[in-house]
Amino acid sequence: MNLEARTVAAMILIYCKAHHAPGGGLCPDCADLMGYAGRRIEKCPFGAGKPVCNQCTVHCYKPDMRERIREVMRYAGPRMLAYHPVLAVRHLLRSRRKTSNIER
Ligand SMILES: [Zn+2]
Repeated sequence: MNLEARTVAAMILIYCKAHHAPGGGLCPDCADLMGYAGRRIEKCPFGAGKPVCNQCTVHCYKPDMRERIREVMRYAGPRMLAYHPVLAVRHLLRSRRKTSNIER
């Protein structure tokens, strides 16, 4: 799994744990969302050089999935620093990268 997929998976877990499945694990909706996000990331035309999804010019998510992932990120984004500092910092660094520089 690449870094973006791991970051998204970690965020969905944080969000679901807080909202749907306090006992741990994932509710079926979030399991769905995670599977969907993973498939989108796999097919991303930017590959390993991709910017984080919210900076991406392609917007490959379906509108309803995009809304769900945005809500997850809004909630889990700030909490990533506490739970997964390494992933969070690397995510922040990449989010400063603009789509136009990724060909390097
Ligand atoms: Zn959930």
